[in-house]
Amino acid sequence: MTREKELREQIIAFGRLTYERHLLVAMDGNLSARLPDGNILCTQAGCHKGFLNDDHLVVIDPSGKKLRGKGRPTSEMAMHLACYQERPDVKAVIHAHPPMSIAFTIANQSLARCILPEVVLTLGTVPTVDYETTGTMDLADKIRPYIRNHDAILMDRHGAVCLGTDLLEAFCRLETLEHTATITKWARDMGHVKELPADEAIKLRSMGLKRYGGPPSAVAKADEPCADLPNVCTDCTGCSNPHPSGIGPKADLRLVRVNSLGKPEVKMPNVSPQESAAIESVVLEEVMRALKG
Ligand SMILES: [Zn+2]
Repeated sequence: MTREKELREQIIAFGRLTYERHLLVAMDGNLSARLPDGNILCTQAGCHKGFLNDDHLVVIDPSGKKLRGKGRPTSEMAMHLACYQERPDVKAVIHAHPPMSIAFTIANQSLARCILPEVVLTLGTVPTVDYETTGTMDLADKIRPYIRNHDAILMDRHGAVCLGTDLLEAFCRLETLEHTATITKWARDMGHVKELPADEAIKLRSMGLKRYGGPPSAVAKADEPCADLPNVCTDCTGCSNPHPSGIGPKADLRLVRVNSLGKPEVKMPNVSPQESAAIESVVLEEVMRALKG
């Protein structure tokens, strides 16, 4: 069997699996794989990923020009091309709409990275990029800066893009992401999210990068004091005492730390903790007044 034939069968199989695992519905999502000659095999626009056949696959060149196949290439072609352009190590990309992960972006909460050991080992941090219109070059440009350092990225109100050295790896990352979101939601519903201590998170991440790999830029940091995790981890003391600046260094990553009550702790720019508390109490008073009518 040629490599292309093998990849065609894999895209069809993983498309069905993403649908059956409720990681997308209807015409959502798209899958692609890099062919040995450098061209890209991707799903056609407007087809159901649960019922793919060979006619739904299109070959494009690295600039996005269609070479073979019926119909138009996926509307998220620019997103897939950005992944292959930024990461020569990446051979497969899956974009899906995992519901619980998307709910986290709408609630403006990150998937706190230090909860499940296997996530720290295999994914590290999962950034959420700000909202952008689906199927546009603007969306591809928005995720592009994060592709180099992350194997899974969430897009506000939209979905996830997961990268891998093959389709199975990209699919595993997508599954892990949604599984984490579900467990985190259940734990929050029970009222308490207990994070791994920072030193254990760093140890796991360093171990994971060496054992399972990851973005080359991250693997290169495996032996650094904080591995590829944000510097805020170095003086974080775990869930019992969340770091006051939040979990991540950049506001645009939308990383929000969850405190022991399950309440997101958001740092407001240029506002002191006292001012922030005062604003919170005024807002609460107004809400209570409105509720009382
Ligand atoms: Zn989408």
